[in-house]
Amino acid sequence: MLKIRISSPRARTTDHVHGSRIAIIGGGFTGATVAKLLVERGFGHVEDVTVFEPRAQLGSGLAYDTSDPDVRLNVAAHRMRAVPGTPSAFLDWLQSSGTLTVDPAAFTSEGIFARRRDFGRFMHQQMAPLVKDGNIRHLRETVSIVCRVNDQWHVTGAGGTKIVADMLIVATGHPPASRPRALEKLSKPTAMRVTDAMAPDALRDFNPDSSILIVGSGLTALDALVRLNAQGHQGKISLLSRSGLLPRPHAGGGFSPYGNFQEEALTTARQVLVKVRATILDAATHGIPWQPVFDALRQQAQCVWQRLPECERQKLLRRLRRWYDVHRYRMPPQVSAFLMEGMATGQVETMVGDLASVRQDGRDLVARIATRDGCDLTHRCQHILLATGPDFRDYGTHQNFLLALHREGLVQSDPLGLGLVCDRGGRIISLDGCPNTSLFVAGPPARPAFGELIGVPEIAAQAANLADTVLRTLARRNRTIFIGRQD
Ligand SMILES: Cc1cc2nc3c(=O)[nH]c(=O)nc-3n(C[C@H](O)[C@H](O)[C@H](O)COP(=O)(O)OP(=O)(O)OC[C@H]3O[C@@H](n4cnc5c(N)ncnc54)[C@H](O)[C@@H]3O)c2cc1C
Repeated sequence: MLKIRISSPRARTTDHVHGSRIAIIGGGFTGATVAKLLVERGFGHVEDVTVFEPRAQLGSGLAYDTSDPDVRLNVAAHRMRAVPGTPSAFLDWLQSSGTLTVDPAAFTSEGIFARRRDFGRFMHQQMAPLVKDGNIRHLRETVSIVCRVNDQWHVTGAGGTKIVADMLIVATGHPPASRPRALEKLSKPTAMRVTDAMAPDALRDFNPDSSILIVGSGLTALDALVRLNAQGHQGKISLLSRSGLLPRPHAGGGFSPYGNFQEEALTTARQVLVKVRATILDAATHGIPWQPVFDALRQQAQCVWQRLPECERQKLLRRLRRWYDVHRYRMPPQVSAFLMEGMATGQVETMVGDLASVRQDGRDLVARIATRDGCDLTHRCQHILLATGPDFRDYGTHQNFLLALHREGLVQSDPLGLGLVCDRGGRIISLDGCPNTSLFVAGPPARPAFGELIGVPEIAAQAANLADTVLRTLARRNRTIFIGRQD
């Protein structure tokens, strides 16, 4: 007999079908959003949603699990479309919770740029009732082992908790930062002065007059700059990167995204570049700055990516990635103001080159920097901060449980170094080329299928699509119908 299950609570049927157990590994923004959607939409199909996440709160993850008042979101609040179906939820919450009253610095001529910790608070308030009511089980453990036994997933946390699930969703987010080779064989005292900029206490022991070399010049580097400024740092700060490019500023004026990158098939990286340049010129004739063009490109980037053949995706990453990144990942206006001041006074400088080696000389670290024209520069500093960004290469082997799945051929890292091979429904594709209907990947490591999948709005949309795919799969297994919804 075919039974009908409708996702709206108002249309529930009373037939009892045994629901499925779903395990989610990782409870940052992605894992939390998927869990919430499965609970909200999965009536009758889902018996239990368990999230393994060592952090105290669900929904924060690496980006928003911070108490630092100085680091801000890099997009305006109205663009943080975090809740599928309710795009203004975060902005509404900022206003109704009184958060903006105690943070007047959030208001800028480019829009409202809230604190990252406040987005973490918002997510906590979304998730806490579901955890409290027992709709979502939050296990504060890191998953160390996953085994497939008789079509079920046996998941074991580092604390010894074991659960059995019918469906498994990998939402492990950002891997550790890539480490330049030059930092591989440092002596212990030297290594102690090289810290990961994302670590919460990375800047704690810095003397305010010390000279600091930041390796990387993206948003992570600028975050470090802001945190140093907030703790009264007076010493020189040098940002080293291969391109020397910095994230660009936002534009004021409240422009809507401008440009259509979907109507014609762009099948080469070059065609994409030509189209973007032409759209920027066209926008300028209407008095529109380039930023809204990149906003449109970002919104349509998944479609552009999916139309490109693999070799052109590779070219795009090799030749245009840095260029795309600095226009797409723009700095909050508060950071922009500080950076301009720091550069004007000479406290902050940018350097172009590769970190070739590091050695200790008395109280100093001496960094050798290989420049593009084949010369070597010597740079003295007291600390090195690593802000190279997460390294998604070999994602399928960067954690023990993934390595075990990789050895069984159940997951594979994609050749372009973006994450795990999967389809657009988030189903992980095994080594034999088949999508696994009970093993999914959500959020940034699902980028091979999407290209652009780092920001909150894109992740929220993928989470909704993935939740519906999971529920449809369960309905098929239970011989019922899942009627999803359009967001
Ligand atoms: C510093 C920073 C600032 C950002 N700012 C913005 C912004 O302003 N606007 C925007 O739109 N986007 C921003 N982003 C991007 C975006 O919000 C993130 O990509 C998104 O939050 C990703 O969430 P996630 O849950 O997939 O990954 P993560 O945040 O990395 O979370 C993954 C979680 O998985 C857990 N985990 C990992 N392995 C295991 C395991 N084995 N067992 C159990 N748990 C595990 C980790 O503890 C972690 O909490 C920012 C990203 C960063 C890093």
